[in-house]
Amino acid sequence: MTESKYIYDFSEGNADMKGLLGGKGANLAQMSKIGLPVPPGFTLTTEACLAYWERGAGLLDDLWAGVEEAVARLEKAADKTFGRGENPLLLSVRSGAPVSMPGMMDTILNLGLNDETVEALAANSGEPRFAYDSYRRFIQMFSDVVLGVSSTHFENEIVDAKRALSVRQDYEIDAATWKKLIKRFKEIVKRETRSDFPVDPWVQLRQAIEAVFKSWNTPRAKTYRRINKISDALGTAVNVMTMVFGNLGEDCGTGVCFTRNPSTGEKGLYGEFLVNAQGEDVVAGIRTPQPIAELGSTMPTLYRELLAIASMLERHYRDMQDIEFTIERNRLFILQTRNGKRTARSAVLVAVDMVEEGLIDRTTAVRRVTPDQVEKLLHKQVDPSVPVDVLATGLPASPGAAVGAIVFDPDEAERRGDSGEAVILVRHETTPDDIHGLFAAQGVLTSHGGMTSHAAVVARGLGKPCVSGCEALEIDADRGTLSCGGRTFAKGDILTIDGSRGLVIAGNVPLMEPAMTDEFRKLLTWADAEAAVRVWANADTPADAARARDFGARGIGLCRTEHMFMAPDRLPVMKEMIIASTKEERVTALDKLQVMQEEDYRGIFRAMEGLPVTVRLLDPPLHEFLPKEAEIEGALKKLRDEGRQKAPETLALERTLAKAKALKESNPMLGFRGCRLGIIYPEIYEMQIRAIFLSCLHLAAEGVEVVPHIMMPLVGVQEEMKRLKAMTDRIAEELFSEAGCSVAYETGTMIEVPRAALIADELAEYAQFFSFGTNDLTQTTFGYSRDDAENKFLAQYVAMRVLPEPPFRSVDRNGVGRLMRIAFEDGRRVRPDLGIGICGEHGGDPDSIAFCHKLGLNYVSCSPYRVPVARISAAHAALGLIE
Ligand code: PEP
Ligand code: MG
Repeated sequence: MTESKYIYDFSEGNADMKGLLGGKGANLAQMSKIGLPVPPGFTLTTEACLAYWERGAGLLDDLWAGVEEAVARLEKAADKTFGRGENPLLLSVRSGAPVSMPGMMDTILNLGLNDETVEALAANSGEPRFAYDSYRRFIQMFSDVVLGVSSTHFENEIVDAKRALSVRQDYEIDAATWKKLIKRFKEIVKRETRSDFPVDPWVQLRQAIEAVFKSWNTPRAKTYRRINKISDALGTAVNVMTMVFGNLGEDCGTGVCFTRNPSTGEKGLYGEFLVNAQGEDVVAGIRTPQPIAELGSTMPTLYRELLAIASMLERHYRDMQDIEFTIERNRLFILQTRNGKRTARSAVLVAVDMVEEGLIDRTTAVRRVTPDQVEKLLHKQVDPSVPVDVLATGLPASPGAAVGAIVFDPDEAERRGDSGEAVILVRHETTPDDIHGLFAAQGVLTSHGGMTSHAAVVARGLGKPCVSGCEALEIDADRGTLSCGGRTFAKGDILTIDGSRGLVIAGNVPLMEPAMTDEFRKLLTWADAEAAVRVWANADTPADAARARDFGARGIGLCRTEHMFMAPDRLPVMKEMIIASTKEERVTALDKLQVMQEEDYRGIFRAMEGLPVTVRLLDPPLHEFLPKEAEIEGALKKLRDEGRQKAPETLALERTLAKAKALKESNPMLGFRGCRLGIIYPEIYEMQIRAIFLSCLHLAAEGVEVVPHIMMPLVGVQEEMKRLKAMTDRIAEELFSEAGCSVAYETGTMIEVPRAALIADELAEYAQFFSFGTNDLTQTTFGYSRDDAENKFLAQYVAMRVLPEPPFRSVDRNGVGRLMRIAFEDGRRVRPDLGIGICGEHGGDPDSIAFCHKLGLNYVSCSPYRVPVARISAAHAALGLIE
């Protein structure tokens, strides 16, 4: 067996080697290859990381000679010497996994400094202050990342030193003070670790590499991977690169820029930079940086060079790039480029624009927008018509708006967030250790940091609103207060943040639901062209139907008629129908209901003109339309107490009570509901069917194209389907001959009890379509009450991994899914053109949609707001991106 090659110089790799070199390493290699100014360096592969986790430190012994040779090549390229000499070579050591994990892994800068090299650096640069500052940064970072000594120890010393010097900023600290602090830092390391700080640069390098390998399995890296579903088996690469300095003076600087706006997707270089600073100053949000456009006036030539490189990188990678750069004495270096993280809104606009610019094709555009992003795109916004009490303005770091209670501590945010409370995490700035708090909060507010600060990047990724760099806020986390402009808020007070505009607003502001943009519509149309399974909607009212259509639904897969009966003007008539003691009484009430239903259906059919509308006949048990027994008894008692025993209201209430008692069932969900109602009280279903056809005939006469599908709920026996189909055909015939015209219609059934799935062949003899009602099908397959199980035991079941997924959210493929497959295959065997869809809640869940795609369903039907997510999911399922 040949020994693996664990070390690659940047000049040896290319962009296709992400798995081996990590994203950063592969990009650095690619950039070197295309001639960009990248500081020389080399990459230890992800395989080395995995081998390290297998073999431990022995791996490092084996590959060390290779590291020494690679460093020798860097010495030669830079004409510097590592760890000694007049011109010492300094290195950065960074992690870089195959998948971008922003802020999750550790970076060490200025490696190679010690008491000797720092003097050479001071002499060589002519900037002793810079040299000592670099050295102390190195000790601080190295101690934190490698030796596990908290940065707070060092920060406290710096705060004390600034106080003694009466200065506010780190860069105001002079060389002599840094020198003293370095001595103090080393004492802290000795005290905390009981060993001296390593002065040998080779020891530093070895420990730094090992620390990166180890950081692959820190709790925060694992959390990030778990949240983002990234495999633990990838490993991270280690990039060792020649240091360049952005903090040597006013002709130096550092920055981060995106080739397009990562929040909005707008074209044009977007980002920020700091003069005389190192990269971590930008990312950590310690100083608030300047917008990148200002570089155009401070360093115009370099700005032009940066613009040219940015556009070249974008054309090369055919995607929006996130570029880190450093300017050392008027020379531009590109330290990193990667595909930029972006908001959902930006993802859509960039994808659509790039198609129009001829950079990518439509399929690639569709691939680049995930169901998750589409979900986020449907973000809430502050209603602009409502006057708001703006407390402060910060940077619009991640779009959308959120309302929640102020919380200062990420652990508390997690606790309160997980228990269902809406909280806003308020911090000076966030670090990767805060990820759990960010995850649980509705939004994030920071007083420091720019658009590329940790809080901003992570919030954008999570699709949560973030306002950053809101310097006007005074946060006192210890006392639990937030002050601004003379007003003070306490922990638990309610704030609204508007991450689209950067506003911090006092109190609870009403939020507006999101809307579709033109480019979003365009992208979804392209998605439809990829998809095999269509997306329909569950809509009960004309307004729902119009919204569904606006979101791109191609039909209505479920119109639950009972929701119409719940309206205040209908409920009394419904009650009248239920408590009727004779058929005549019932028919009188039904006649009134029919008029109302006709009007409802007309509205829906009109809104969906030309598209199928699946109307499901009455489904819930009748008792749901009556008041609760206790309520009726209470009202009766009152009447009787008033001596009105014989009053007509009393008698009516007594009848209602008797009916409610008669309808009472121990297991109403398994009881007298669904098509059983239509079989026992045919006049109810007859009324509904008449209303459907009459509304259709009415519209057809107006020239409106109607496509009615009439659906029977809870069918489990062939005879049910047979009788209900006959009923439908009989009424159709009567009405069509009366009207002298007809409309084409289909009669079908829901498949929502296991028996229906098992006798699908029998049902298909009479049903022209099937629709999987996976809410009831899950309930009846598992024997879990859909009303109770979720908050009684299912959450724990999933937490304890008794179940892999909550079955009411994502189709249980082995059980419920198996029944679906049986029904699908047996149904199609008997009736090859049988239309088959799904209308349970699962119809809007991307995983379940992938399953429906595999099964070969014609459509998935979900609530109107989920239609866009379902459309992109259907495309991603067809493209094999979700399975
Ligand atoms: C179902 O059971 O999946 C369904 C769509 O019907 P409902 O939720 O109305 O019972
Ligand atoms: Mg159902």
